[in-house]
Amino acid sequence: MKQILVTGGAGFIGSHLCERLVREGNAVICLDNFYSGSKANVWHLIGHPGFELVRHDVTEPYRAEIDEIYNLACPASPVFYQYDPIQTTKTSVIGTFNMLGLAKRTKAKILQASTSEVYGDPAKHPQEESYWGNVNPIGIRSCYDEGKRCAESLCFDYHRIHNVDVKVIRIFNTYGPRMAVNDGRVVSNFVVQALRGEDITIYGDGSQTRSFQYVSDLVEGMIRMMASPAGFTGPVNLGNPGEFTMIELAEKVLSKVGGRSKIVYQPLPADDPKMRRPDISLAKKELGWEPKVSLDEGLDEVITYFREVLSR
Ligand code: NAD
Ligand code: UDP
Repeated sequence: MKQILVTGGAGFIGSHLCERLVREGNAVICLDNFYSGSKANVWHLIGHPGFELVRHDVTEPYRAEIDEIYNLACPASPVFYQYDPIQTTKTSVIGTFNMLGLAKRTKAKILQASTSEVYGDPAKHPQEESYWGNVNPIGIRSCYDEGKRCAESLCFDYHRIHNVDVKVIRIFNTYGPRMAVNDGRVVSNFVVQALRGEDITIYGDGSQTRSFQYVSDLVEGMIRMMASPAGFTGPVNLGNPGEFTMIELAEKVLSKVGGRSKIVYQPLPADDPKMRRPDISLAKKELGWEPKVSLDEGLDEVITYFREVLSR
């Protein structure tokens, strides 16, 4: 039985990861300060002998005997990470520093949840791991982008200097059940708006693109990355290469939900990346991984989920 620490475990992705790790017979400690996650996301796991929920802020050191760490703590929605940007940087930088210290002391493997945001507003398309990115260091997204870049840098220094077994994944836009109704990211916004019959808010002209990955595909990739041979550090992109404009996404959601919503256009936030699509050749080669769930299938799941949540 492995002792596994999941920071940010009560968040959207973390809760799916905890569920899978518990189901596979591991002893999971889920660490969260409930900044953007909630107990409700892991309610169904509480009481399971393989699951422990701990309220803790990763900017403070944490001690336990651990075999593996999945470091996910950090708000991921622009609305949440920009609400308290200094805390966002502290969470990424000091939080990752604390978790690397724990990994070093306990000789645990550590998987760092990095992001496609390290590529910023990319000048190269699609994005492969060797691309260094195009990030504004002083803008409103910097707390997240630069925080995550610094966290990657710390991982590789701990690997080079202290031989910590680090595994860095760069996650591309991921969606699925348990995103919060007020999360603010585009998939949950559009689905919730359509189900409520409210206007669908496209920021900018809607020609910007994203590539959307369903959460179960990501969790599979994370588990494979953790199990990859020692010395394979990444960084490795985990995302679905299917690329869509925000207009295409809005139209898909509208055609699936039906109803009376209409599309409205609102100002584009500063530094909003114009396009994003992962090159996943490395994940295919090293992890034998590729996503299985199409946007159409995933949207059906999410619509069913939010329909139920909104009917409560
Ligand atoms: P989320 O906001 O639902 O989950 C983050 C969790 O971390 C929340 O439960 C939150 O309460 C917790 N947290 C935040 N600050 C903390 C702190 N200081 N101490 C302890 N817990 C803290 O977001 P998510 O979509 O589940 O993202 C999880 C991870 O994956 C994040 O690190 C995020 O940067 C990364 N990621 C996500 C996406 C995506 O599209 N969902 C894309 C790229 C990277
Ligand atoms: N977006 C939008 N309407 C919304 C929310 C987001 O048009 O209600 C746009 C946003 O400007 C961006 C894209 O959708 O171009 C993805 O935004 P999200 O916040 O989901 O993720 P990120 O920008 O971090 O990739």
